[in-house]
Amino acid sequence: MLPDKLLRVLAELYPPDQILREESERWAYGYDNSRLQYLPDVVVFPTSHEQVRDTLQLCNEFGIPVTTRGRGTGTTGAAVPLAGGLVLAMERLSHIGEPDVANRYLRAESGATNAAVQEKAASRGFFWAPDPTSAPFCTIGGNLACNAAGPRAIKYGTPRENVLGLRAVTGDGREIRTGVLTTKGVVGYDLTRLLIGSEGTLAVITEATLKLTPLPEAVRTLLLTYTSIEAATRAITEIMALSHLPRSLEFMDAGAIGMIRNYADCPLPAEARALLIVEVDGDADELDALAARVLHAAGNDDLLSSLDADSAEQAEEIWRMRKSLSPALRTVAPKKINEDVVVPVSNIPRLISGLGALAEKYALPIVNFGHAGNGNIHVNLLLDPDEPEAAQKAEDCLDEIFTLVLSLDGTLSGEHGIGVVKREFVSREIDAVTLDLMRRIKAQFDPNGILNPGKTI
Ligand SMILES: Cc1cc2nc3c(=O)[nH]c(=O)nc-3n(C[C@H](O)[C@H](O)[C@H](O)COP(=O)(O)OP(=O)(O)OC[C@H]3O[C@@H](n4cnc5c(N)ncnc54)[C@H](O)[C@@H]3O)c2cc1C
Repeated sequence: MLPDKLLRVLAELYPPDQILREESERWAYGYDNSRLQYLPDVVVFPTSHEQVRDTLQLCNEFGIPVTTRGRGTGTTGAAVPLAGGLVLAMERLSHIGEPDVANRYLRAESGATNAAVQEKAASRGFFWAPDPTSAPFCTIGGNLACNAAGPRAIKYGTPRENVLGLRAVTGDGREIRTGVLTTKGVVGYDLTRLLIGSEGTLAVITEATLKLTPLPEAVRTLLLTYTSIEAATRAITEIMALSHLPRSLEFMDAGAIGMIRNYADCPLPAEARALLIVEVDGDADELDALAARVLHAAGNDDLLSSLDADSAEQAEEIWRMRKSLSPALRTVAPKKINEDVVVPVSNIPRLISGLGALAEKYALPIVNFGHAGNGNIHVNLLLDPDEPEAAQKAEDCLDEIFTLVLSLDGTLSGEHGIGVVKREFVSREIDAVTLDLMRRIKAQFDPNGILNPGKTI
């Protein structure tokens, strides 16, 4: 229950169509793609930076928990209001400025979707590098808060490499600006990159200055299949040693291939046990040579087939197949656990063989796919909902997966973040002294701990 006085002030701050009080409506803002769901006490839809500031000052005064929400596509429960309180739904703070072509940036309010930003940037021949598969739905604020990326990160980087500066409001309602409008700048600490990846626990981002990259003249998409996982992982390390990085290097194991075989019109040999999607980009007249170099590097004895997409439609078909994987997995195993671990690229073969051994040990299907060029593998544990011990088995298996990843110099999450679901594992990766320093930083930004309580560290 929220204090009457707070509700009265909120009603002054927000017109009736920007605030939800009805329980049935509030439920719709209490879940994300983790499938956790909690009921917020109130939901507001700010349309200005000033409304965000005033809301945070108010909630800080009353000690009310605030969960910032983009579009709830996150997979870790980070946008779920665990402690009730107020949900700050950012979807209507979504203005996008005109691209500044000379200085290669674009300013966007944080509730704009990734796809809308890409469209605006493309109107002047540019793109913003981070390209999560959820781009049509997810917001720039959500992308920044999770450092969410996608296939292009291998060549063009994540939000941390593609943001010049931020406008934000701290947990106690102070307005801050971070970063610069230039591609160089080293005055003060780098708060831009501190806020990126902080999962809404330090400040609410209201606007971002996004670094733009010119659209390439041409793109070439290759689909390669292999008779074994080992052969595909050998090819990955060979491709990564090339002087010209591909713009995407995606991987799927046999389980993943089985899931998508019927989803798209791409010829996949029956014996295929692993596949790679490799994309190169550049000037049109250099693409033949770049594709040939990739094929040479990827072409070991166990290469089964290679398809060089000869039209934009065929390339799109390949990506449609890749994008159908997450929904296909969810249909087959509604209770799947989806991790996004990362290891150095040279350790991918050991990670994949270790995962195979764990799948056997626990008699638990594990389907692996992901952004191999970054060593970022989405590991999916497919739980049988009818098996009583499935949850415990998966938990034990997950524990061993994280031990394996850390033993291979990896990290627990590449782009999905920690949220609620991985909190207990954080101290395995980050030592106590460093964690203590992080908690002190949190206290500087959010002295009363109202921002997204119970998440990340
Ligand atoms: C089908 C599907 C495909 C996906 N593919 C990818 C992928 O390829 N790569 C990838 O990285 N992720 C992917 N995701 C995960 C998810 O889409 C991303 O993490 C995305 O960035 C979340 O954005 P959102 O707007 O939905 O944020 P939400 O889920 O609403 O929130 C996520 C976190 O961001 C915080 N937050 C949101 N807005 C702000 C703000 N303005 N200021 C401060 N904090 C804020 C929230 O508090 C929360 O902690 C996928 C998800 C789905 C469902």
